[in-house]
Amino acid sequence: MSEVENKVVIITGASSGLGEATAHMLAKRGAKLMLTARREDRLKQLKESIEKEGGQAEYQVLDVTDRQAVQAVADRTVELFGRIDVLLANAGLMQLAPIDKLNVDEWDTMIDVNIKGVLYGLAAVLPTMRKQGSGHIINLSSVAGHVVFPGAAVYCATKYAVKALSEGIRQESNGEIRATNISPGAVATELTDHITDPDARKAANDLYAVAIDADAIARAVTYAIEQPGDVDVNEMIIRPTKQE
Ligand code: NDP
Repeated sequence: MSEVENKVVIITGASSGLGEATAHMLAKRGAKLMLTARREDRLKQLKESIEKEGGQAEYQVLDVTDRQAVQAVADRTVELFGRIDVLLANAGLMQLAPIDKLNVDEWDTMIDVNIKGVLYGLAAVLPTMRKQGSGHIINLSSVAGHVVFPGAAVYCATKYAVKALSEGIRQESNGEIRATNISPGAVATELTDHITDPDARKAANDLYAVAIDADAIARAVTYAIEQPGDVDVNEMIIRPTKQE
């Protein structure tokens, strides 16, 4: 039995990009998935397509900034599947602009989704994982969690926070909870669609000319999960070969 088979995995941000690609890959290897995001039509389509491929998935509409709703997803997952083995805290957004533009509403949204959303997920699953004596938190940070780019200060701040959180979980794991921090470079998804600042959007689109396929990150997530329980892959940085 592969170490992925029968594992119960909650994915946030499963409706597109990295979350969607990872859902397909894990389902093919026999994981039981709880797919979440805000766009129900996408989740329904993904569930149907996974089932056609012989996989197992349920979905629940979720805004990760709603703490009670995040807890409800964790509770429903336990009801349906009996346990939670992995939380893939992937939901996130990147709204780039120079600090002087003072896009404070966008700062708030990024902090709410990219940091608080990850924390709410952790709070919702950790008691179940402690009861089980095992669990795995996989957080999507970024190369932007290792290096600060002009026009990306707040996004980078959120991804540095995610990286710090992953390391904190690792340190307090008590030998029970695996913590994996995944830091992609440019990957072709819908991420840049949410940039409202025209100059920042153009700069991002130039950088994303070398973007790699979302499957590259799905493979990284799968690798982390399929390691034996005594092996914790703490950190992976995955850039396009052509990214500077
Ligand atoms: P996408 O924009 O394709 O996917 C983002 C996902 O997050 C969507 O499924 C979206 O679903 C979900 N989401 C956004 N806001 C919320 C919310 N409030 N509540 C619940 N779900 C939400 O981008 P990616 O797949 O690229 O992004 C996934 C993660 O990877 C992000 O954390 C991103 O920062 C990170 N990352 C991506 C890189 C890249 O180059 N693509 C590089 C480095 C890191 P919906 O709108 O339906 O709610």
